[in-house]
Amino acid sequence: MRNAVRTLVLTVAVLAIWAQPARADTYTQTKYPIVLAHGMAGFDSLFGVLDYFYGIESSLKSGGAKVYITHVPQFNSTEARGEALLAQVQDVLARTGAAKVNLIGHSHGGLDVRYVAAVRPDLVASVTTVGSPHKGADLADYLRNHLQGGSFTESVLAYFANSLGTVLGLLSGHTQPQDAIGALAALSKTGTSAFTAKFPAGVPTTSCGSGAATGTLGQRYYSWSGTDPFTNLLDASDYALKLSSFFYSGSNDGLVGRCSSRFGTVIRDDYDMNHLDEVNQVLGLTAFFTNPVSVFRNQANRLKTAGL
Ligand code: CA
Repeated sequence: MRNAVRTLVLTVAVLAIWAQPARADTYTQTKYPIVLAHGMAGFDSLFGVLDYFYGIESSLKSGGAKVYITHVPQFNSTEARGEALLAQVQDVLARTGAAKVNLIGHSHGGLDVRYVAAVRPDLVASVTTVGSPHKGADLADYLRNHLQGGSFTESVLAYFANSLGTVLGLLSGHTQPQDAIGALAALSKTGTSAFTAKFPAGVPTTSCGSGAATGTLGQRYYSWSGTDPFTNLLDASDYALKLSSFFYSGSNDGLVGRCSSRFGTVIRDDYDMNHLDEVNQVLGLTAFFTNPVSVFRNQANRLKTAGL
């Protein structure tokens, strides 16, 4: 009898354990929603229907995060892009009932999120920038200086013209160089330094230093970037980024210099990634041993651990 009871208890216990639902993955379950902000929408037209943050949104969601993708207009100043982003942030807050958001911006999107954090710091728990040209992108200055007045073919070595056109397309999504030049103004050294003069929070004051880790309301500031323009033979964009990297004197991701990317707490500024790898493009074709999606997941977990 005692053995029968013991067997019964054991069976019930085993069944209870077996019947428990699989524990949900909560690795990326941040307190506040994560808002992802894109760079130049040239990527949108380049990749068509593909996600800009390739595979990143779904991965963050699978770990419990609420994730929202935003879209801002092209050929505009960072302030204009930032205003459009702010409206979408307020929409996310209204829909979710959350008090704040965690902002993550790639490339120009990193400047846009700084704008939102500056004008509405009360709505922002954290700002993370990925491969963003806080101190300008050398290529933007080069192109602005050399593609003026329709002298594109005259002023650029013919050998590089086609490849540069590809880079311009990557940057602007537009085939007309003159329009691209307009879009690049915000990313030139002059454009970014004027922006930072108005919105300095988190940007290092020395040439390659570290920025403030927190803002006046306790917002956290973070950044990361890559320094390997060419990481995957099968990715056609790597060849363009390798070419554009030659416009830079220091280490860079093909479009943004290592020092220019530094903002707030620098998680790492030399990942084995190029500018597109940073958002897991194209189609996950990145360096073999570096997974950009994991870097986003780790950041979400970092925010979660910080109570954000
Ligand atoms: Ca790539």
